Amino acid sequence: DSPYYFVQGKKGEDQVSDAKAEVKEIGKGKTNWKKLRVWCRQLNGVWESGAIQSTSGEESFVSLSNGNVVKVSASDLLPANPEILEGVNDLIQLGYLNEPSVLHNLKYRYSRDMIYSKAGPVLIAVNPIKDVPIYGKDFVTGYREKTTDSPHVFAIADTAYNEMMNGGVNQSIIISGVSGAGKTETAKFTLQYLAALGGGNGWIESKILETHFILEAFGNAKTSRNDNSSRYGKLTEIHFNELGKISGANIQTFLLEKSRVVQVPAGERSYHVFYQLCAGAPPALRERLNLKMANEYNYLIQSDNFVINGVDDAQKFHKLVEALGIVQICKEQQEQAFAMLAAVLWLGNISFQLIDNEHHVEALADEALTSAARLMGCAPHELIQALSTHRIRAAKDNIAKKSTLQQAIDTRDALAKFIYASLFDWLVEQINKSLEGGKRCVGRSISILDIYGFESFKKNSFEQFCINYANERLQQHFNRHLFKLEQEVYELEGIDWTKVDFEDNQECLDLFEKKPLGILSLLDEESNFPNATDFTFANKLKQHLHSNSYFKGDRGRAFGVRHFAGEVLYDTNGFLEKNRDPLNSGLVHLLSSCSGQLPQTFAKKMLDQSPKPAISSDTPRQSVGMQFKGQLFELMHQLENTTPHFIRCIKPNCKQVPDTFEDDLVLKQLRYCGVLEVVKISRSGYPTRMTHQEFAERYGFLLLETNASQDPLSISVAVLKQFNVLPEMYQIGYTKLFLRTGQIGALEDRRKHVL
Ligand code: ADP
Ligand code: MG
Repeated sequence: DSPYYFVQGKKGEDQVSDAKAEVKEIGKGKTNWKKLRVWCRQLNGVWESGAIQSTSGEESFVSLSNGNVVKVSASDLLPANPEILEGVNDLIQLGYLNEPSVLHNLKYRYSRDMIYSKAGPVLIAVNPIKDVPIYGKDFVTGYREKTTDSPHVFAIADTAYNEMMNGGVNQSIIISGVSGAGKTETAKFTLQYLAALGGGNGWIESKILETHFILEAFGNAKTSRNDNSSRYGKLTEIHFNELGKISGANIQTFLLEKSRVVQVPAGERSYHVFYQLCAGAPPALRERLNLKMANEYNYLIQSDNFVINGVDDAQKFHKLVEALGIVQICKEQQEQAFAMLAAVLWLGNISFQLIDNEHHVEALADEALTSAARLMGCAPHELIQALSTHRIRAAKDNIAKKSTLQQAIDTRDALAKFIYASLFDWLVEQINKSLEGGKRCVGRSISILDIYGFESFKKNSFEQFCINYANERLQQHFNRHLFKLEQEVYELEGIDWTKVDFEDNQECLDLFEKKPLGILSLLDEESNFPNATDFTFANKLKQHLHSNSYFKGDRGRAFGVRHFAGEVLYDTNGFLEKNRDPLNSGLVHLLSSCSGQLPQTFAKKMLDQSPKPAISSDTPRQSVGMQFKGQLFELMHQLENTTPHFIRCIKPNCKQVPDTFEDDLVLKQLRYCGVLEVVKISRSGYPTRMTHQEFAERYGFLLLETNASQDPLSISVAVLKQFNVLPEMYQIGYTKLFLRTGQIGALEDRRKHVL
């Protein structure tokens, strides 16, 4: 009788070598490995399933599922899971956790409209991009009464709610994924479920749901990836009372994409609210705002895209007005907000004329200028003055200088962006006032985080830099949480967990955060040099960070960072400017002298944030990078005081169509959102856990020598011995047996062979 070989994959080792080890054993021809199910890499990189027919040396003949027989080298083979594991709820149940196996499982489920799966404690949601009838009242009841237990966003919300009620601990639901993956919809379903569970008088829940509509109008836009893409991150904290009823809520937003207000990429749109206002404002309002159609505003015409298929902007405007009313933003305030939107649009139409031979310009006093000035509440000549000059620091004085065309355009756009971003913040503030719920109970909240996932494009700029930095932080939170969960299981079972390695990304975070030699500090330092350029910044990074293994200096003005999800090359073009986000002090003066209430509020808030003396130069504020870091730290601090639940959203294809699953795209996201990390963490430990009882019942009959009086533990140990399972491949806990990856697959094969 031949010895039975087990895959000798060591912790952390690549699965390819598992396959090699396995195939090598096949090569020795000692056992009947025929029909071993494998994944076989095709020339185009796609993994096909098949079964090994015969093996010689490093090569095997594999019969593919399509009937063809091909010769494949060991490096192109990975072990596949036995059929009993087809479409399992939880990826961790897979004996083999290699990429094709994980992918196949998700695809198998997706094709049956099972869009939710688990990867250990993490919920994976693959966007169906069509209505799937799994969110109705019957489903709410099913999860509430626990008559259903298949993976679902409701199940996550239910667990969070119960843990909060029973343990008195704040909870968080952290949703991430690429643009268009379904984060915002998932957040809405979470809220819907919590509203059903914690619904009291109905008023506060419907208010919370209405806020989505308002923030969507002001913070979402059509992009090439998603017709309704949120251009900001959002944390919705829901407060409950002692009885578990919703008592109030609070919303925090992060990093609104301001540049979209003045710059719209081809084929995309600016923020929905502009089109809604232009299409839906009633005649009297149009007249008061001197409002034109969307295609008459320069900021909107940059992209030839004005409508979204199936969306009626005019109708949405009416819904917006209704929603604003529900969150108690009165008619007068609404009109002021709309006036700010119209002012932004008119600012974009302002043009400039040359006034001297030194290329200096001045704003034209045309309809655009007078409209913008009137809407803001200032005299036209004041606006002309503010737009046509910039201030520089000379000795102790701050003097106004005439601007060139580019300087004037930058000033105008900075004003438009500032007004819009301030309006957005103001709205969030008003919404929060209306959602406030009086006295708060300790340990009675659930926070839902809907935040942009890791991004890596052909060209990556300051925005991707910030987003990926945030994701690196969230990933650490994720890793540490999983580590803690694992550790608890091991300790509970009396198992030595020092044998399990976990990766941490602290070093990568240090690269961003260290003072004075981290990227953010160096960026700030360079932002303060008047003569600095993107090139000098890139060189500075290279000079100080070249020996850091997470940093990669590149040619020219680019630099690379080795993120947990892969390496990203950042183009420093615009980094300094975006980090400074300068607002000409003349503009702050202008806004504070406007008669409109909102411009004054915006200017005041700005002055309150600035270090003293407030507006003596053009870069008085904290840099955008540091502001973001501060926000992120606060967010992490908040999350650390909660029990987290993770949802990873996956976009199945780039075309925004249903029933289409693109392997490569999904695989990349599984990597980006750390699902493969979860899998790796499990792989590096002992992913298979069975009680002694279960194990003995399933494999005990394979024993050659049996002793009827044996207990489950002794039977299990005898099985392991008989099949030469190496001691480092398993651990015996108080109630369970812990096995490393691949072991159970081999036992299953053996079992099938005997049956
Ligand atoms: P993200 O916030 O990740 O960018 P969204 O949540 O806006 O993505 O989702 C993009 C689109 O995908 C939605 O407009 C909707 O049409 C569709 N979608 C997302 N999740 C679901 C779901 N669970 N069921 C049906 N359609 C969905
Ligand atoms: Mg979104």
